Amino acid sequence: WWILKQIWDKQLLYQGFKVVPYCPRDQTPLSSHELALGYQDDVEDPSVYVKFELEDEPRTYFLAWTTTPWTLPGNVALAVGLDIPYVRVRQGDERYILAKARLSVLEGEYQVEAEVDAKTLLGKRYKPLYSYLVPDKPAFYVVDADFVSVEDGTGIVHTAAAYGVDDLELSLKKGIPVRHVVDLAGRFRPEVEPFAGLFVKKADPKIIEDLTQRGLMYRAETIRHTYPFCWRCGTPLLYYALTSWFIKTTAVKDELIRNNNLVNWVPPYVGTGRMANWLETLVDWSLSRWRYWGTPLPIWVCEQCDERRCVGSVAELGLTLNDDLHRPYIDRVTLPCAKCGGAMRRVTDLIDVWFDSGSMPVAQYHYPFENEELFKVRFPADFIAEGVDQTRGWFFSLLAIGTMLFKQPAFKNVIVNGTVLDKQGRKMSKSLKNSVDPMEVMSKFGADATRWYFFSAVTIGNDYRFDLASVQDVVRRFLLILWNTYGFFANYARLDGFDPAGAAVPVRERAQLDRWLLAELAVAIADVEKAMEAYDPPTAARRLEAFVLDLSTWYVRRSRRRFWKSESDADKRSAYQTLYQVLVNLSQLLAPFTPFVSETIYQNLAAGRQGQSESVHLSDWPVAPTDWRDDELRQQMSVVRRLVATGLAARNTAGLKVRQPLRAVTIAERPLDPGLEAILLEELNIKAARYQGEGGGLTLDTEISPELKLEGLARDLVRKIQELRKQSGFAVEDRIHLFYEGDGVLAEALERWRDYIATETLAVAVARGAAPTGASTETLQIEGNDLRVSVVRVATN
Ligand SMILES: [Zn+2]
Ligand SMILES: [Zn+2]
Repeated sequence: WWILKQIWDKQLLYQGFKVVPYCPRDQTPLSSHELALGYQDDVEDPSVYVKFELEDEPRTYFLAWTTTPWTLPGNVALAVGLDIPYVRVRQGDERYILAKARLSVLEGEYQVEAEVDAKTLLGKRYKPLYSYLVPDKPAFYVVDADFVSVEDGTGIVHTAAAYGVDDLELSLKKGIPVRHVVDLAGRFRPEVEPFAGLFVKKADPKIIEDLTQRGLMYRAETIRHTYPFCWRCGTPLLYYALTSWFIKTTAVKDELIRNNNLVNWVPPYVGTGRMANWLETLVDWSLSRWRYWGTPLPIWVCEQCDERRCVGSVAELGLTLNDDLHRPYIDRVTLPCAKCGGAMRRVTDLIDVWFDSGSMPVAQYHYPFENEELFKVRFPADFIAEGVDQTRGWFFSLLAIGTMLFKQPAFKNVIVNGTVLDKQGRKMSKSLKNSVDPMEVMSKFGADATRWYFFSAVTIGNDYRFDLASVQDVVRRFLLILWNTYGFFANYARLDGFDPAGAAVPVRERAQLDRWLLAELAVAIADVEKAMEAYDPPTAARRLEAFVLDLSTWYVRRSRRRFWKSESDADKRSAYQTLYQVLVNLSQLLAPFTPFVSETIYQNLAAGRQGQSESVHLSDWPVAPTDWRDDELRQQMSVVRRLVATGLAARNTAGLKVRQPLRAVTIAERPLDPGLEAILLEELNIKAARYQGEGGGLTLDTEISPELKLEGLARDLVRKIQELRKQSGFAVEDRIHLFYEGDGVLAEALERWRDYIATETLAVAVARGAAPTGASTETLQIEGNDLRVSVVRVATN
């Protein structure tokens, strides 16, 4: 009410007689932004070409086109464009007048008899199709209008004063009568006898039938086009002339455009496109709603002298906030007229709910009655987010009210997300049965997975092609990897009694892999920060996803053995401290995206310890110490990882499995640091590296000596014996006796690599010969060679 009073005082709130979108079921006018909410594509409607016979030239007709036959009983005039060339054509024994550019609407043979200047048509009278509308002023003649085009129709526009925005404006300008033939429920009035009481859309076929019988229908067919429906109840909307209340937003159009340009729109094209276009074609805000529930329009009118007053607070009514300010109570409140002393009563209108939502910045603080300081700090908002459908809804109402009240936009930054569609890119709807219940998604995969999907799936502004499988994919691709990495750390840390409060190994003394991970984390923090500063969550989310993948598939996989080692040396402490630090910082980076899993990790690792916050959501954004930075190491590690990928692909092409050691690889790079070279050789299972040439390529020495062959077979044997242990139901830590029978290359490999195989398979003894009864025995087959192997569990005491 306070806001409306401000607008009233600026003389921007007025009562007007206008054609507005109107819902005949709810019996209320709607605003053009509500109209924008309910457009449906592919709606089938009539498309009719109607004949208006000239009064002084029998059997000569103006042809006019409409998709709303129900407006024909309300016809009062025909409009032509002064600069459009018209023609008179003859077809059979009838003549038609239409735009020369629209001759294609005629069916069959015709002769053009004459070119017609639009000026000569002005004032020409025609016989009305129906006589139910009794005009109180001259009607049923041709006028000129600047909105007539030859893009469709016939170049002659049927004008029904009460049922079109242009029609009403034209009729008021030309002094043509504006009379209703349809009531507020969208039904023909009693005087329109043949269609009386019929809902207009139901009357369409009857009107077509009637005009066809009377020979006044030139052509009747159907078209599919876009038509607005009520967003509230789904009824087709009518354009209907009414007296109702408006906000004169057109008076602040330039300011709105200027303020829109001050907003940081993400993506920018919503601001420069959809919103800018909307503001360019702005009409006054249709504010009235004829409903029962909602905010009453606080305008009181004097019964005697028509004096009007806008009320800006409950105090002005002698009421308090404890009083019910809704209908019907508010309608009983009368005010004395300051002019004549008569009784003032409230108009019955309520206001557009989008005005309520646009009032949020002021209303949430009950400003200006309370919280003046708080409001000044918080307005305009730093950031809001909603779907693209709110451009003409909430975004507009916030912008309009902010501009009218404070001459500035109500928000500085806005993220506009696209629409959630089904997997095939169709809108979710009841009729297609393709909507997904959000509660089902969240109970199946969790709120974090659902959130991560929406953060990471598409670039901001694009539509989502959503289904359950894509959220499941988030779990598999990201959350499980994160959780398993955390789980790996948590298990070993517990077993080893790792204490994060212990003296930290200085970063420069940590293993190369640790220093690499910290360097990667430092860059990840900076990248995520930059994306978030730019209001770009998808880029931040994808960066975090890449980091977690690096952490799991490179750092943890390569470091596993460092955590297994039983002695607690400096290298192991370095690994623990590094992974701990990274997981704590990662939980902080993830907190805005996945609040639950990040809180769980933080609670278990850090909360409340060594001066850390009680919750990840209370902790500060992580800052990487400068000594984490190591771009040289990052660069070298990325070279190693690229070489590993190239090397594995080369092995694959040559048909050499990774278990088969190779003698050497020649790398076209400058020599790697020895530690990194060791990683490369271990990953590729190669004995030595040589450096020659440049360009980043790599050549494998594929010659396999008998010695290398035996080593490869030994690795195969380890794998097969591990499988046999598992099949025999042994526990991971069970010791065994290993027996083998047979000759040939497998036996040779086993003997040559006896110690290695014994260590890997936890065999306390390896013997040639038959196993005792009760042993698990299998004939192992590797590359066409056989070896009979038995395993026996050694009893533990
Ligand atoms: Zn409705
Ligand atoms: Zn009065």
